[in-house]
Amino acid sequence: MIRNSMRSSAVIILALLSLTACGDKQNTVAAAKVDQPQEKFAWKLVTSWPKNFPGLGMAPEKFAKHVNAMSNGRLTVKVYGAGELVPGFEVFDAVSQGTVEMGHSGAYYWKGKIPAAPIFSAIPFGMTATEFNAWLHYGGGMELWQEIYQPFGIKPLPGGNSGAQFGGWFKKEINSVADLQGLKMRIPGLAGEVLKSAGATPVTLTGGEIFSALQSGAIDATEWVGPYNDLAFGFYQAADYYYSSVWHEPGTELEFLVNQKAFDALPADLQAIVEVAANAVNESTLAEYNARNNAALKTLIEEHNVQLRQFPAEVMQTLKLHTDKLIAEQVKADKDFARIWQSYSEFLESMREFNKLTLQAYYENR
Ligand code: CA
Repeated sequence: MIRNSMRSSAVIILALLSLTACGDKQNTVAAAKVDQPQEKFAWKLVTSWPKNFPGLGMAPEKFAKHVNAMSNGRLTVKVYGAGELVPGFEVFDAVSQGTVEMGHSGAYYWKGKIPAAPIFSAIPFGMTATEFNAWLHYGGGMELWQEIYQPFGIKPLPGGNSGAQFGGWFKKEINSVADLQGLKMRIPGLAGEVLKSAGATPVTLTGGEIFSALQSGAIDATEWVGPYNDLAFGFYQAADYYYSSVWHEPGTELEFLVNQKAFDALPADLQAIVEVAANAVNESTLAEYNARNNAALKTLIEEHNVQLRQFPAEVMQTLKLHTDKLIAEQVKADKDFARIWQSYSEFLESMREFNKLTLQAYYENR
C-alpha cells in the first residue's frame, strides 16, 4: 500500500517535472522564434515605364510600399524606371535571367518570344477589365498565364488594369478606311498587326520615346493609354485630334514578373505578402484610372483645346474584321495561342450574353 502510494507520488512528481520541462522547452522555442534575427530580402524591380509615371509607374511603387509595410521590412523592393537598370523592353529577360528579382510591364511586349502573351494584356475587341479579372481569377486564366511563363523561370502576377484605352492621338482626322493607308502609328501588340493588315504602318516605341517621335513627325499617330496618362505625356502639344473610340485595348492588364527562384527562396509568409500585394495593386490601379480619366479628359478639352473624335462605324467594322482574321491566323500558327484563346473566347462569349441582360441595358437606361 505504502509502496504503491510512494510509487503514485513518484509518478505524479515525474509527470509534473516533465510538464514543467515541456513548458520550459516550449518557452525556449517561442523565445528563439522571437529573438532569432529573421532573414531579410532586398529585391530589385525594373519597369517598362518612366520612374513614378502616373498610374503605370506608380503601381510598382505602391506594391513596394505594401510589401515593405506588410513584411515589417523583411522584404524590401527597390523600383527602377525604364532605362535606369535595363531598357523598358528588356524587363522580361532581366527577370528571366535573375539579373533582378521582379519586373512590371505588359505581356503584349513579349509576343516575339511568346505568341500567346498578348492575350494576358489586351486583345482588340476582347474583354474589359472586369471580365478579364473574372477570367483570370475564376476562369482558369491565371493558371494558363503561369504555364506559358514557366519555361522562362518567371511567375506572373496581375499588376493593375488601365481599363478601356482611348483610340489615340492623330495629326489628321480619320474619316474613312482610306485615311489609315500608310499611317505611321505607334501601337503595340496584336492591335499593331491589325492596323498593318488594314493598311497602316505600326511602330513600336516605349512610352518615353513617343512624344518626340510624334512631335518630329516620325510618326503620324500614337496610342498610349487614356486621358490620365496621355495628359501627363503632353501629346496634345503634338497632335490635334484625340479619338475616344475603344477597340484595341478594351481593358489592358499590366503584369508583375517574379523570378521563380527568388520567389521560391522566400518563406511562405513573404510569398503570400508578394501575392496579396500584387492583387491589391491590381484592384486599386483600375479604380485610380476610372477616377482620374474623366477629369483629365476635361482638362484636355477645356484647357488645351483638344478636338475629341470617334472613328466612323466603317473604320471600326474594318478593324474588327482584320482582328478576327488575325486571331484565326494566330490560332492556326501557335498551339498555346489556340489553347488559351479557346478558354478566353469561351469566357468572353458567356460574359457577352450576361452583360447584354444586365449592364449593357442598364447603361442605356440610367
Ligand atoms: Ca496602350
